[in-house]
Amino acid sequence: MSEPFNIIILSRNRQLYSTRRLVEAGEEGGHTVRVVDPLRCYMNISSHRPEIHYKGEVLPACDAVIPRIGASITFYGTAVVRQFEMMGTFSVNESVAISRSRDKLRSLQLLSRKGIGLPVTGFGYSPDDNLDLINLVGGAPLVVKLLEGTQGKGVVLAETNKAAESVIDAFRGLRAYFLTQEYIKEAGGADIRCFVVGDKVVGSMMRQAKDGEFRSNVHRGGSTRAIRITPEERSTAVRAARIMGLNVAGVDIMRSNHGPVVLEVNSSPGLEGIEGATGKDIAGAIYGFIEKNGKAGKTRTRGRG
Ligand code: ADP
Repeated sequence: MSEPFNIIILSRNRQLYSTRRLVEAGEEGGHTVRVVDPLRCYMNISSHRPEIHYKGEVLPACDAVIPRIGASITFYGTAVVRQFEMMGTFSVNESVAISRSRDKLRSLQLLSRKGIGLPVTGFGYSPDDNLDLINLVGGAPLVVKLLEGTQGKGVVLAETNKAAESVIDAFRGLRAYFLTQEYIKEAGGADIRCFVVGDKVVGSMMRQAKDGEFRSNVHRGGSTRAIRITPEERSTAVRAARIMGLNVAGVDIMRSNHGPVVLEVNSSPGLEGIEGATGKDIAGAIYGFIEKNGKAGKTRTRGRG
């Protein structure tokens, strides 16, 4: 067994399955684990000796943090992670990587630059370009999605160009940015969640949309099962995580007739679905990574970037 670590899990809710499992697996590994709510962390950002205050105390130094930062608290949460980095604390996912992956558009552009397969995707501004944006992705049926959506909210399948135009007009009316995207019909409402830790896919599951629904999100009634992925899918997932700079990532892939395409790279992937579907100790794999890499002072950016 490796030396025990002092680890902080940044999570808003210690009752969540993922948080509970991370505590359990850490303690099983002989580590000292503490759950800290990132929204209760505060700091003197001008101090030459960076530190973090928590509910009236100064947090004692720790070896590593595991950030579990929900999409709704990205701005504050990444500021807290950055403060840990300034203190030289190793963060399993660094603040810049978390912020980068939360920007869907920027993520797709970075992945595309490195040759990762993506659904054909359009992005535009002016209503004068509506029709071109629809045609750019092959016309109807097509997917129109809000840039800011999560859990499948704001992801619409438009069966006709007219329907797509109406959805686009509605999104524009709300002053919301959106993408047009090729509909990957051949995937049959299924996508694959690859759970990446370091340079490995440590678990993968297929999510299947329920009847009459094309979105496979579990929040929308999708079902999950373990699946064997192809070497190409494996390398796509690992490369996508690396391009985003994430050591722990949930990479969502669809099987298109032009190969595996990445839909999204998630920086705080849930453990419940993947551990349930695969029966694997994914939380334990995260500690394996920390034990190998997580020494204080090894953080690369120290809050830069
Ligand atoms: P969110 O981040 O809100 O989950 P996604 O872009 O991952 O949004 O889309 C939600 C779900 O909708 C996906 O898991 C997938 O099942 C389905 N989906 C998204 N984009 C496409 C597409 N281009 N073609 C087919 N299905 C899609």
